[in-house]
Amino acid sequence: MDIRNLKGVGAARAELLAARGIHNVRDLLLYFPRDFDDRRNIKAIADLTPMAINTFRAVIYNLPARSFSRGKSIVKLKIKDSTASITLTWFNQPYMTRAFVKEREYLFTGYVTENPYGLEMRSPIHEEVCKAQEYAYIIPIYPNIHGISQKIFRAIIKNALDIIKSRGALSVSGIEAQLFPEILPDAVMAGYNLMTRLHAIINIHMPQTPENFYKARRRLSFENFCIRLLALAKLKEILKVRCAPWDKLNVNIFLSRLPFPLTDGQHEALNDILRDMSSGYVMNRLIQGDVGCGKTAVAMAACYAAIQNKRQAALMAPTEVLARQHYISFNKVFAPLDIQVVLLIGGMPKSEHVKNSIKNGTAKMIIGTHALIQTDVEFYDLGLVITDEQHRFGVRQRLGLSEKGGSAARGDKINKCHVLIMTATPIPRTLALVLYGDMDYTRITGLPPGRNKVDTFYVTGAYRARVHKFIDKEVKLGHQVYVVCPSIETITEPMTETITQDNPPVESVNTAQDMQSVTDYAAKLSLSLPGVIVSVLHGKMKPYEKQEVMDLFYCGKIDVLVSTTVIEVGVNVPNASLMIVENADRFGLSQLHQLRGRVGRGKDKACCILISDAKSRAAIRKLKAMEKISDGFELAELDLRERGPGDFFGTAQHGTGVVDTREDMDILDQAQSAADLIIKNGTHEREPLAGEVNRALGSGIISL
Ligand code: ADP
Ligand code: MG
Repeated sequence: MDIRNLKGVGAARAELLAARGIHNVRDLLLYFPRDFDDRRNIKAIADLTPMAINTFRAVIYNLPARSFSRGKSIVKLKIKDSTASITLTWFNQPYMTRAFVKEREYLFTGYVTENPYGLEMRSPIHEEVCKAQEYAYIIPIYPNIHGISQKIFRAIIKNALDIIKSRGALSVSGIEAQLFPEILPDAVMAGYNLMTRLHAIINIHMPQTPENFYKARRRLSFENFCIRLLALAKLKEILKVRCAPWDKLNVNIFLSRLPFPLTDGQHEALNDILRDMSSGYVMNRLIQGDVGCGKTAVAMAACYAAIQNKRQAALMAPTEVLARQHYISFNKVFAPLDIQVVLLIGGMPKSEHVKNSIKNGTAKMIIGTHALIQTDVEFYDLGLVITDEQHRFGVRQRLGLSEKGGSAARGDKINKCHVLIMTATPIPRTLALVLYGDMDYTRITGLPPGRNKVDTFYVTGAYRARVHKFIDKEVKLGHQVYVVCPSIETITEPMTETITQDNPPVESVNTAQDMQSVTDYAAKLSLSLPGVIVSVLHGKMKPYEKQEVMDLFYCGKIDVLVSTTVIEVGVNVPNASLMIVENADRFGLSQLHQLRGRVGRGKDKACCILISDAKSRAAIRKLKAMEKISDGFELAELDLRERGPGDFFGTAQHGTGVVDTREDMDILDQAQSAADLIIKNGTHEREPLAGEVNRALGSGIISL
């Protein structure tokens, strides 16, 4: 049913709703609240719970006042009841000064914080008590829709629910089509104790009890995960593109030129790759392996195979620093085999010459950054694309990777090439399925022999002077040192951020005060350690500046590199033996593990020192875990359990609302077994589930 025909929605509101992707009653009811407010429980101000959404009622005796700070308008209103007082704050809503009438009583709902000045509620929603109809209910709180208040939106939802509750169905162009038919098979419904779909839709919007809200939410995210997983499985089938099988897959000549025999784990990964290349289908494989497990050698062998089959191979690194590093190591092995290796990165002199060699096929092995496939580079006959250390890649971007493959000269009908993605970010199995469910998956286990474990120590800031002496000692032994700080410059003023209901404060702002910054730290360190050459590296530097610093560090002209996490990915300086992480509590376990992996790459004993003054039990537990556990996957599983999955998705995937909490993870786990069951029973082929899966594929919803 068109949204305009719904009671409470006219043309103007229909437009506002459309801006949020709501076009019909179905869309409307699929716009779920992000939380609820239990208005059966209206509290006195003294009883409000900080860090949660609360409702209280109070009479207003004075009107709000408006002030400005850094170009932002702030409206504040101090309110008292017989128990206590609270400050209400609205950012950038100057009209709130006119929203109230003195001596009337209002209900306020919002996120409550507690600061040294007392209680505060930021951007609350309000309602005059005498007009409030939703008093003693549990009311849903929706993600804001521009131009439509919560109250009005709730009324619109109620009208829509009345229709489906009375009929359970809607008339769509003359056909009685049920709007929310059950899509999950009976076996899954019973096996996982799920609410029916219709019931869940009703209860997410209008729960009688909080328990019903949670049950509804579980059911709906369960369904959401199932659909995504089934869509990914289907995508994997769709992506199966036929290609001529490769036949020259003996890579022994190459292997004999490596200065070491492959580990068992490297062999297994290589076998998976060679099997894919001979399968007659385009390879689409993710290789995961802990830092230092030797992914580069596996990548080289794969490239060698491609080149043996008279195709070009391309390797893409996420940064120029890494691209250059790969160029050097590939050249060492490939040049004696008479294979021409070229490096292509932005702003390079002679790049025309390089592009020509790529186009006419004399360049066999091409190394560069992502620009390699995004720009006007033309390949002669690209057979294999490898991306290294790229763990934040969406499905859609991955689909783009193979597009440059094939050969116009040979007349390939399908312009696709083999794709291999290598990542050192250990992703727990459950998440790997959601993030990379469309790919085949190999995990390299084990490290090359003789690798020294990096000893890890967790100390407080009180030890900093001693740590600095240790730096001095390592440098005098001819070693190099990394220091990682969380920020670039010291922040002198407290950050002001608009905190709204959609963006509640997550941590206290003043922690910034004791945060170590790269520039300050480097300055202090050079003062206290004369004779030690200290340099900085951070994301705000120009690419050529970064390159210069990295080059100097590679060849040992810099002793200590103080940097932000820009060095996290893939950098290989075997002479570096000490990694110091300041404010270590600010980093996730997986990230700390990545940082630690930068040292211990040479023959000498390496060590990692984590400095933190954090007092929270979780932070201490985390840093102690780093001391004990050296396996990246074990840490990743722990990280997932401790902090929830947010970190694994990275910023690019934020806001998809896919898996946000640990509770979501549990549901995802169950949905994965359910999806397996559904595929096994073949029930995913049946309507209406098949329709939902196709809808997900079509809408791009799975480009996580
Ligand atoms: P990553 O998997 O982190 O990319 P690299 O490929 O950079 O690891 O390898 C790390 C180091 O281990 C390199 O110096 C490499 O030469 C060495 N290496 C790789 N494979 C082996 C092996 N089978 N035996 C001994 N050393 C190896
Ligand atoms: Mg690597």
